[in-house]
Amino acid sequence: MLLPIVQYGDPVLRQQCRQVAEVDAAIRELAQNMIETMVDANGVGLAAPQVGMDLQLAVIDVSHDPECVSFLKVNGKHAELAEIMPLIFINPKLEFGQEKEIDFEGCLSIEGIRYEVRRPAAVKATLEQLDGSTLVIETDGLLSRALQHEIDHLNGILFVDRLSAVGKVSVKNRLKRLLGN
Ligand SMILES: [Zn+2]
Repeated sequence: MLLPIVQYGDPVLRQQCRQVAEVDAAIRELAQNMIETMVDANGVGLAAPQVGMDLQLAVIDVSHDPECVSFLKVNGKHAELAEIMPLIFINPKLEFGQEKEIDFEGCLSIEGIRYEVRRPAAVKATLEQLDGSTLVIETDGLLSRALQHEIDHLNGILFVDRLSAVGKVSVKNRLKRLLGN
C-alpha cells in the first residue's frame, strides 16, 4: 500500500524518533509499505517520519546502480549490493570515516530542491534487522550517503540543515515557498 509522504514543514520531520522496541506485524507491514512508497516515488531511501511515524525505521534501495559504491563489507565480509537490497533497518548506529565528500542530494519530503552536501565518504553502520539479527555495513558512495541521509531523518535532521552557508542562502526562498509563506 502506498503511503502519503509527509512534506517539509510537518513537525514529525523534526522529531527525535523512538527506538523500535518490538517488531510486530504492524512494523513489518509499515516497512513493506515504505518500500512500495519509496519505489513508487523513485527514491533511494525513505525514513519512517517521512510517512508520519516517529520510529527508528528506514528503508534504502540503491541496487539500480551496482557501481555506486567502491567497496561493501557486510559483517566483515565482502558482499554485493544485490545481497542486501532492499535494505530495511531499525535502531541504527553510525560511525564515520575521516575523509569528506561532496555530492548532490534531494529528499522526497523536500520537493524540487537538490543541492550539494558535504558528508563523510565512508561509514560503518550497525543496523538491526526485523528478524532480530544485526547487519554491520561498511561502505562508501551512494549507500554511505543514503544511510547518513536516512539516519539523519531519524534524528529530526534534514539535508538542507547540512548545506554550506552559501547553499543555505541559495535554497532559503525555495524552502519558504514550500512552507506556503
Ligand atoms: Zn530525505
